[in-house]
Amino acid sequence: MRIRRRRWPWVLGGIIALLLVGGYFLFGTGAAPSGEYVIDLPALHRAAVATGALPERIEVEKVGQFAFPRTLVVAGDGFHMHPMVLLAHRVVWPDHSLIIDTAMAPAAAKKLPGSKLDAGAFDRVEAAMKKASVIVFTHEHVDHVGGVAGAPDFPAIAKQVRLTREQLDSPKLERGDFPAGALGSLEPLSYEGLYAVAPGVVLQKAPGHSPGSQIIYVELASGQRFLFVGDIAWTHDNITLQKGRPRIATLLMSEDRPAVAAQLHALAQLPPDVHVIVAHDPVALESDLQTGLYRQGFSGLP
Ligand SMILES: [Zn+2]
Repeated sequence: MRIRRRRWPWVLGGIIALLLVGGYFLFGTGAAPSGEYVIDLPALHRAAVATGALPERIEVEKVGQFAFPRTLVVAGDGFHMHPMVLLAHRVVWPDHSLIIDTAMAPAAAKKLPGSKLDAGAFDRVEAAMKKASVIVFTHEHVDHVGGVAGAPDFPAIAKQVRLTREQLDSPKLERGDFPAGALGSLEPLSYEGLYAVAPGVVLQKAPGHSPGSQIIYVELASGQRFLFVGDIAWTHDNITLQKGRPRIATLLMSEDRPAVAAQLHALAQLPPDVHVIVAHDPVALESDLQTGLYRQGFSGLP
């Protein structure tokens, strides 16, 4: 098709405008941190050790993997597919356990781009939820609470589920995924400041990625320290490069970009012996398994 000479300036202007808009939404990382997000490690330690015996170990189940274009994960970092994992972690004492995030059922996860799922791993998460004394969540998105939402026997796990008031009230909680009346049967967890939900496991609110986001500090009897940060970052690169998701991703998820930027800044200041667990990072998962930070697979428990 020939474009008349008089129309060239308009066509060129249109292309430039499209590139500018695309660049703004796909590559821009413009958010300045909103104030300072404080992670007070001595205070977290004091709260962790105040109430009883610390846990022995951490285990992980990899329920599946999927992939997003890299620039949706780290703004401006190319369009190749970036692999991501769906995980559930379990904190273990000699006679009981606590679960952090529950991934999502394979049927629901099939909708994620490039998904490959492990039904056996999800079954082990479901079985472990029944035995756990507490189930907590980094945030209320479906890929973290989905295991609870799809539990075949909800009453058998309701008592353990500790969704915070902010998570239960959040518009980001997919209420339709839960059985009728299930959410109403839960006692909301309300806390201010730092809250030890179990000895060695301390919660701190971190709204930004979602209204109900929180960080979960875990200290083991060995002295090892972990910080589960959910989806504040989707890869450790978000922290090390100090580059968050692009505007298009945060717009679609209604994120508070300046709050997330402040949290990414705080995470980058942590000493290296605090192991930051990013929910969807397969590279960090492999490296943590190889160095023996935690074990793959939920073991049998009494
Ligand atoms: Zn997630």
